[in-house]
Amino acid sequence: MREFLIILLVIAVLVGLTAFRYRKQIFAIYQFWSALRSIQAKNARSQMSEHAGDETGPLVNCAKCGAWTAEGKAIRLGTRTFYCSAACMEKAATAV
Ligand SMILES: [Zn+2]
Repeated sequence: MREFLIILLVIAVLVGLTAFRYRKQIFAIYQFWSALRSIQAKNARSQMSEHAGDETGPLVNCAKCGAWTAEGKAIRLGTRTFYCSAACMEKAATAV
């Protein structure tokens, strides 16, 4: 039983030293995680007012069929390529 406690103590010290060594990374991960949480909260809030926000955004041109779609509804590929629907994106992907 005493050996077990010593092993546990060694493991605890190792974990503590590792946490101390990587405290900056752990802090960065924590910040990233909390940022992710706030984005998720924002998304949940914007989903309630989806009809007011997303569908009245600037219009973008579908790269496949040329239809104009609100930016919020279009599927974005990269920074400047938009598709009106998943079907158009699939057609464009299989055509290449
Ligand atoms: Zn299209």
